[in-house]
Amino acid sequence: MKNFKVAIDGPAGSGKSTISKKIAAQLNFSHIDTGAMYRAVTLHAMNLGIDLSDEKNYDFLDEIEVLYLNNKILLNGIDVSKEIRDPEVTSKVSLVSSLKIVRDKMVDLQKKAASQGLVIMDGRDIGYNVLPDADLKIFLTASIECRALRRHKELPGSNLQELKEDLLKRDYADSNRKESPLKKADDALLLDTTNMTIDEVISYIICLILERMN
Ligand code: C5P
Repeated sequence: MKNFKVAIDGPAGSGKSTISKKIAAQLNFSHIDTGAMYRAVTLHAMNLGIDLSDEKNYDFLDEIEVLYLNNKILLNGIDVSKEIRDPEVTSKVSLVSSLKIVRDKMVDLQKKAASQGLVIMDGRDIGYNVLPDADLKIFLTASIECRALRRHKELPGSNLQELKEDLLKRDYADSNRKESPLKKADDALLLDTTNMTIDEVISYIICLILERMN
């Protein structure tokens, strides 16, 4: 089987997962949403009621199974795709994902999952840490106003200003942590999607993939 890896990174709300999912469906790639994996660990830790900031409480990582498959995130075999989007999980995920013990485990799973075949993986550290040898690396950005507005449309009844503040807070935490922060790989292509539609971004990236695969 042919191998081809695409790494998509970017801040919260830049459209990474939506875009990666659609590209995967069109080109028959596997898609791995690494943010969903960190969210699943956060959900499990919250359910255990542990002090989330203490690495010593994370022994459970050796006993749980976190699997992203067919657009679903499975935690010990149970589909938790809805629960991981809960605002409470969103507000805690940056703390949990900043811990070395959590990242080591997740990055190991992510590398294994992408070792064979046609794969598109999205996250924060994919291009320079998880898949440094990816065949195509994209760093997606968009203005904060645009990212907040996109979220607002997805979440009926949400408050635009609050969404904006939450995104900025999460970006700051993700960009300034010690362990593999949100960062563009030196050889990643920077794509500002502020004035692009989702379909335009998808077509553009698909063209790049097809060019490089041939
Ligand atoms: O992509 P999403 O917004 O679902 O990611 C949730 C959180 O997971 C991010 O805010 C970040 O803290 C963490 N994350 C990470 N590294 C990745 C993917 C996500 O630290 N590769």
